[in-house]
Amino acid sequence: MEMPLLRVDDLKVHFPIKKGILARTIGHVYAVDGISFDLQPGETLGIVGESGCGKTTAGMAVLRLIPPTAGHVFWKGRDLSKMSPSQLRTLRGDKLKALRREMQLIFQDPYSSLNPRMTIGQILSDPMDIHNQYTGRSRKQRLDFLLDTVGLSRHITNRHPHEFSGGQRQRIGIARALALDPTLIIGDEPVSALDVSIQAQIINLLVKLKKEFNLSLIIISHDLAVVEYICDRIIVMYLGKIVEAADYISLYKNPKHPYTQTLLSAIPVPDPLRKRNRIILEGDVPSPIDPPSGCRFHTRCPYRMDICDKQEPQMQSFGPAHTAACHLFEHGKKMDV
Ligand code: SF4
Repeated sequence: MEMPLLRVDDLKVHFPIKKGILARTIGHVYAVDGISFDLQPGETLGIVGESGCGKTTAGMAVLRLIPPTAGHVFWKGRDLSKMSPSQLRTLRGDKLKALRREMQLIFQDPYSSLNPRMTIGQILSDPMDIHNQYTGRSRKQRLDFLLDTVGLSRHITNRHPHEFSGGQRQRIGIARALALDPTLIIGDEPVSALDVSIQAQIINLLVKLKKEFNLSLIIISHDLAVVEYICDRIIVMYLGKIVEAADYISLYKNPKHPYTQTLLSAIPVPDPLRKRNRIILEGDVPSPIDPPSGCRFHTRCPYRMDICDKQEPQMQSFGPAHTAACHLFEHGKKMDV
């Protein structure tokens, strides 16, 4: 099998909680608590879950914008997690620059992610200046190419972000992410701040760019409806853990984990004659400072059993690319959506 572009192995990100004049550590926020997945070249992976499930932290840790507490992140076989933040900061060689170029981020909020004092030309040129790419005459050609690619006019380079709508700003953010010919783009809720009609345009743009540039994408979203049309494979996270992972057909047609079933039941059906049985969860999401014992979903699960708060369920296979962690299947029971 081909070597994965990205391999995440038992990744943990725990944030210490400090208190008092001596800033003693009195606990931890278990934001990401042992997740593993691979990303193949050209693949689009969705990471889905409610707010606070750790999906954005996982994306930031992959990009090394947050140092992992434990575990490994391999990029093209190279273990990035062995490099300390100070090593990453002081390493100025071509390898680090190449790494930074290869992995780019699209931010959630197209309003705050663009510097209002900079022109669009300066915003798009910024990564090229940092990496000393497309200098001289090729810069203008590159800017024209990027603006054409994301469907914006070439004549906007002297204008400022406030002159554009949310959708246009997100296109500028995507053009900036493409500026250095990346291999992987991580989109952190790339459409959640946009109107529904604009969301569809941005998703279609990402699908087009993926094909055009053979990109690998990780799309982080709280909404399974958003990732359905763009992702090859989807990971569902709950309170810092992966509870289900599958290719998009298996996940949407045959979800195994009760949490995935709940998320799917919340997607509106665009047909007035069809009704979906909405599953309403009890209670709030527990605190990641003190996650529930056993299965972390047991405090809200409609199918919970005695074993659920005592023993953590292990991942079980339901096909070549479908796994889920739930005790129901160990006990020979069957669930329907
Ligand atoms: Fe529900 Fe138990 Fe399965 Fe957790 S392990 S999802 S509590 S049935």
